[in-house]
Amino acid sequence: MARKKTGKRAAPKKAAKKTAKRAPARARKLVYFFGGKMADGNGKQKALLGGKGANLAEMALIGLPVPAGMTITTEVCTHYFKNGCQWPRDLQTQIESNIAKIEKVMGKKFGDLKNPLLLSVRSGARESMPGMMDTILNLGINDQVVESLAGKTGNERFAWDSYRRFLQMYGDVVMGVQQTAQEHHDPFEHILEQAKNKAGAADDTDLSVDDLRDIVKKFKALIKNRAGRDFPQDPMVQLQGAVDAVFSSWENDRAKVYRQKYGIPAEWGTAVNVQAMVFGNTGRKSGTGVAFTRDPASGKNVFYGEYLVDAQGEDVVAGVRTPKPVARMAKDLPSSHKQLLKIRAILEKHFRDVQDIEFTIEDGNLWMLQTRIGKRTGFAAVNIAIDMVNERLISRKEAISRIPAEDLSHLLAPIFDAAGEKKARKIASGLPAGPGAACGQIYFTADAAVAAAAKGKNVILTRQETSPEDLRGMIAAEGILTTRGGASSHAALVARQMGKICVCGAHDLTVDYKKKTLSGNGVVLKEGDFLSLNGFVGNIYAGELKTAPSQVIQGLLENSAAAKRSATYKKFTELMKWADQYRKLGVRTNSDSPKQVKNAIAFGAEGIGLTRTEHMFFEGNRIDAVRQMILAEDDAGRTRALKKLLPYQKKDFIGIFEALQGRPATIRLLDPPLHEFIGTMTPAQIKKLAGKLKVTSAFIQRRISDLHEENPMLGHRGCRLGIVHPEITRMQATAILEAAAEVQRKGIQVLPEIMVPLVSYAKELELQKAVIDETAVKVREKYGLRANQLKYQVGTMIEIPRAALTADQVAEHAQFFSFGTNDLTQTCLGLSRDDSSSFLPAYREAEVINNNPFSQLDQIGVGQLVEIGVKKGRSKKKNLKVGICGEHGGDPESVKFCHRTGLNYVSCSPFRIPIAKLAAAQAALEEKG
Ligand code: PEP
Ligand code: MG
Repeated sequence: MARKKTGKRAAPKKAAKKTAKRAPARARKLVYFFGGKMADGNGKQKALLGGKGANLAEMALIGLPVPAGMTITTEVCTHYFKNGCQWPRDLQTQIESNIAKIEKVMGKKFGDLKNPLLLSVRSGARESMPGMMDTILNLGINDQVVESLAGKTGNERFAWDSYRRFLQMYGDVVMGVQQTAQEHHDPFEHILEQAKNKAGAADDTDLSVDDLRDIVKKFKALIKNRAGRDFPQDPMVQLQGAVDAVFSSWENDRAKVYRQKYGIPAEWGTAVNVQAMVFGNTGRKSGTGVAFTRDPASGKNVFYGEYLVDAQGEDVVAGVRTPKPVARMAKDLPSSHKQLLKIRAILEKHFRDVQDIEFTIEDGNLWMLQTRIGKRTGFAAVNIAIDMVNERLISRKEAISRIPAEDLSHLLAPIFDAAGEKKARKIASGLPAGPGAACGQIYFTADAAVAAAAKGKNVILTRQETSPEDLRGMIAAEGILTTRGGASSHAALVARQMGKICVCGAHDLTVDYKKKTLSGNGVVLKEGDFLSLNGFVGNIYAGELKTAPSQVIQGLLENSAAAKRSATYKKFTELMKWADQYRKLGVRTNSDSPKQVKNAIAFGAEGIGLTRTEHMFFEGNRIDAVRQMILAEDDAGRTRALKKLLPYQKKDFIGIFEALQGRPATIRLLDPPLHEFIGTMTPAQIKKLAGKLKVTSAFIQRRISDLHEENPMLGHRGCRLGIVHPEITRMQATAILEAAAEVQRKGIQVLPEIMVPLVSYAKELELQKAVIDETAVKVREKYGLRANQLKYQVGTMIEIPRAALTADQVAEHAQFFSFGTNDLTQTCLGLSRDDSSSFLPAYREAEVINNNPFSQLDQIGVGQLVEIGVKKGRSKKKNLKVGICGEHGGDPESVKFCHRTGLNYVSCSPFRIPIAKLAAAQAALEEKG
């Protein structure tokens, strides 16, 4: 781990020595200055300066009060890792010249004994990764500077308190002095606690100057003892160590987990922001806070944030002290509050989006330390985007582009059943930090949460406050409850971003980690007990509450009038209208029953992109007929079984065609990997089936063993089944076409598209098409229809690399293609769909892959096969209709790829349709630029 490495590394003594073996000079600018209403960079340079650095530059440029500083670029970080943790040759010189500029603007000098400048050193990746990397504050203090700081500020306590904080951070982050496996406490905290006990101090703020001096002495001794070297007194050496530590923290465990979760590439690296310190802990006229220009949970247009008087940066977000709501600042710090409200308006107008800000007030002077786009829940994303269009702050196109398509799933997630919630036992309430309804069993540590979730339990991670170390537990949990901390605490921030249901700061409840209990208001819950969280309003209930569908689902699928009046429903439908206006890709559904089709149409599906006919056999006793067909030893036996199946199939297709009301339907011929139907039968099931089929169990056992395949996914499935047993294709084509003829008679248009699966050779498709065409002739005869009175198309799935590579030949027999990217991924990567989940997590951890290729299309690899397939297919048939029906059809990034590759439509499960539509609209807008 990076921390350990930095702890062991020898202290960098002199810049010249450190750079001795470096690569040849690069003329590149490595450090960007900002401050005093000017900046070298600007807000557009996030890739180079990181989000924090770019926005600090932008704030300086628009004249906001930003403490002067410099940003060391992300390119330096990349260089650092590529060159054995060495700095580029010019870095030291560029840092020194920028320090001179900071000194000039701030009127203080780094390491000076008269008027010392202190610095903060913070990470800043291209995308914000809250709390995942390291920060060092108060850098530049040493044994002499602390005295001069005390004299200059006339506040000895402040100076010594800053020194002890610096030693603690620096010792931990840079010199690797951390809690060992044998210790129960952080060693610095232990010294602090001992000092407090000795002095009878309840709080850190009760410690005297002498106490603090003594603590500083002990901290230095601890560092020397554990790190084997003295804490560096030279401020420049301190700075070098801090910059290295921040770079190294890009590779720490938390940052890696976060990157995996959000698909952030390791190559991006982090920038380092070195900025003049301003102090919120110099007394009652000072303070620090974080705020959002609108409520990030609900999206309401209210200034939303928290602050603490007489406190320093991390105190607010760490969740240790519960801060006050920002509106209270009007009383405590009125002029700064006024100024802050003005800045809120300036920032929203300038950035045209919700901002998440950090500020510090030093002796009545307000300083802006950060602004970034505010992370928000799916609810807030939709609300804010639509409100901003109505406020004429952004256009509809911008609103569409800005809502992460995946976030729409938040609006579709269940809520509590209203009647059940009224009767439930409310034990407390907290801040509603992540909307939604969650119930599950409580666990008190991230490890316990992960273990319980792995056993299939719904987990409510319950903590006093969360720290970045809890990230794995938060990912595993359905909901998160904290008893301390505010709505801007890390728990709230991270939960919101993940779309987790979260209630924060439930002060009436107590978490006892030792006893593993959550108690309050007369209730004691133990680990594993059920708890329910209403993240819309912050209510906490003992027990398991019933849930109900979201208002969007109630409105769309259940036609509930009350739900249709809700703001959520109205905004959702408005947004879908806008998406339909801009998207070019069609959106179809993967549905196998009339009910699914009806739901999909309510969500706006324009037809079916895939009906898996084998799924229609899972129901009732149909599975018996399918098994009979598979197990048959001869054509006669198979024909008997197929006769039984035909009426089922036909009835289902009639239902589907009726539900479609004239929309097209791609129906795929049978594609059952045999193991899914017979491989998993238990002895009891075999006995039961034997009775029904009037054969012996031994016969079935023998047939199962005859048909056993070592690799069923690559075995006798797909069109291979229809080639060997054309009667299966005949039965299915008959059912589809007879159903079409009968539904047409009712005056409903039917557009069947019969799809042949798992084609590798053009000849396979040719053979299957011939069977379908012959069947069509018979069906027309039976119903007295001419060719133009019973139309259908025959096409194929492209899901085997050979079919993609020879798509021109395949297209000769196809009226459409549909990319089956599940199998195409499996076969392109040689990676089993069924078995890869055991090792793919390790692959993500090792950053071999950023995303599961079965969820998000591997555009670089599998994507090439799709591109080749489209190009070759259309080289033979210019207007060949091409879609996708693998799971990727509902994944936003993959949908965008499909747009760019010129597909006609994507097809996905009903509940993903809104997401696919929004992503399709975003793709169309991205193309226009
Ligand atoms: C596919 O392979 O992408 C596909 C849609 O087919 P199935 O998942 O049924 O194999
Ligand atoms: Mg397939």
